[in-house]
Amino acid sequence: MIKESLNIIKVGGAVVEDEKSLSGLLMSFSSLHGKKILVHGGGKIATEMAGKLGVETQMIDGRRITSAEMLKVVTMVYGGLVNKTIVARLQALGVNALGLTGADMNIIMSVKRPVELVNFGFVGDVKYVNTRALVSLLEAGAVPVLAPLTHDKEGSMLNTNADTIASSVARALAEKYSVTLTFCSSIPGVLKDLSDPSSLIKTVAKKDFEPMVADGTISEGMIPKLQNAFDAINDGVSKVVITSPSDLSGGTTILADPETDD
Ligand code: ADP
Repeated sequence: MIKESLNIIKVGGAVVEDEKSLSGLLMSFSSLHGKKILVHGGGKIATEMAGKLGVETQMIDGRRITSAEMLKVVTMVYGGLVNKTIVARLQALGVNALGLTGADMNIIMSVKRPVELVNFGFVGDVKYVNTRALVSLLEAGAVPVLAPLTHDKEGSMLNTNADTIASSVARALAEKYSVTLTFCSSIPGVLKDLSDPSSLIKTVAKKDFEPMVADGTISEGMIPKLQNAFDAINDGVSKVVITSPSDLSGGTTILADPETDD
């Protein structure tokens, strides 16, 4: 049976913060035909708001710690300001957007990350995606806009990486739809040389990943992004791309692992 297609676009924090990139992305998103979902990051807006509210931003090794006070800020900013602004702008473009966090309709349940070397605070690792609820919304003609927030089903919201949300939702929905997952950042894709936007690598396979991390070609946010991308392409998602808002059909295509005989 031929599956209906579903586009899942994940838009990064840097795009959300930049008015020109965001309006370009929302225009491109609005012109995509068929079923679609937008997942957005948060960016520095939460840090700015936290500063205004006197909430300290704690970082360990360059990674954000979500304290109880910061959780309140990200819930307000990602689940409120950022999510609803995107929804309103999509509505203005004729898209029937519906803004949701993972708590709404129990769309995404997570568990608080266990404390190992670092206590990340109120950060959730995805455990469950409510496929049935998402399918019912898509079939009703809604366009879900997902904030990077999940819940633990015990009454607490949790801050969750937007790439992981996009990858988890794509994998869950791949049973029903032919899913294209597009990670949209401020960069044109995976680059050989970060300072040269023309050094785009057209395809990346998992076998290339370790050597590229080892030689420093890929670093920082690109490491978990690629891990999420490989998880998706090897778990039923039809196509995974890392690109920029100006070129949704270009960028770097992620290759699935080769089939083995055993
Ligand atoms: P976003 O929040 O926009 O989704 P991230 O900041 O998490 O994206 O990850 C993208 C970032 O990864 C880029 O802005 C860049 O700084 C970094 N990066 C590291 N290595 C590479 C690479 N080889 N190609 C592209 N980006 C890379």
